[in-house]
Amino acid sequence: MRCEVLTLFPDLIQGVTTQSIIKRAQAQGLVQIRVHNIRDYIDDRHRIADDAPYGGGAGMVMKAEPIFRVLDALRESGEDLRVIMPSPQGTPFTQALARDLSQEPRRLVWICGHYEGIDERVLSWLQPEEISIGDYVLTGGELPALVMIDSATRLIPGAVGDPDSVAQDSFVESLLDFPHYTRPEEVRGFGVPDVLLSGNHEAIRLWRRKSALRNTYHKRPDLLNPAQLSQEDQRFLEDIVQESRKELLVRKREEKCHESASAT
Ligand code: SAH
Repeated sequence: MRCEVLTLFPDLIQGVTTQSIIKRAQAQGLVQIRVHNIRDYIDDRHRIADDAPYGGGAGMVMKAEPIFRVLDALRESGEDLRVIMPSPQGTPFTQALARDLSQEPRRLVWICGHYEGIDERVLSWLQPEEISIGDYVLTGGELPALVMIDSATRLIPGAVGDPDSVAQDSFVESLLDFPHYTRPEEVRGFGVPDVLLSGNHEAIRLWRRKSALRNTYHKRPDLLNPAQLSQEDQRFLEDIVQESRKELLVRKREEKCHESASAT
């Protein structure tokens, strides 16, 4: 994956990409990340990158021409580019999109806006893919670009030590991940489920699968598509529904007991 990030705040990008898994992936040659300071492409003495909006109103708007110049420079090699503009108005970013980026043979370019955003003519000329990381507004496109680069990087074979850990992640199969535990066996009175200490691989597999289904059922039921589930999964799901009905009944009974105890 080859990434070019256009920004007015290169340190924001460097801060994250020089650490941990992304740092290692670059050292291994799996990912290339180049950061371009848009300000370096401005001729005028004061290197002003933004200006007041036509029509008046609050905030500053990033100028188009400096961004075009960075793109001109990148296009000099004649290579195909896939240009992305992080924007709250974009297509929602998903795990599927992360996978798509991780397999992209073209050079990926992120144009990070700041302030009120970027002169609309950047959209008109470049027609970039607008991608949103959620329905909220951030101060700039740097964090969204990093979110996309980070999630795509961990999907590149070899970037994360054990490929199984990526294969089992949340969303990979429209299911959330199962719970994880590590040493010691007891923390502040909380133990580890016995099955994980049993050494019985099949029992552990079944527990993890059921737990992933339970997590999804309780936390993100919208992700569950019973038609896509195996028969084993469907049986687990029936158990989980029964379990939660029982829990609800017990809770209701307890509440009633409390009510009648406080009434007397
Ligand atoms: N006025 C704009 C928001 C500008 S926020 C609007 O309401 O649409 C400044 C920059 O932050 C944007 O140009 C974009 O690059 C980035 N940004 C903010 N929120 C984002 C989000 N949810 N997803 C992706 N990028 C976002």
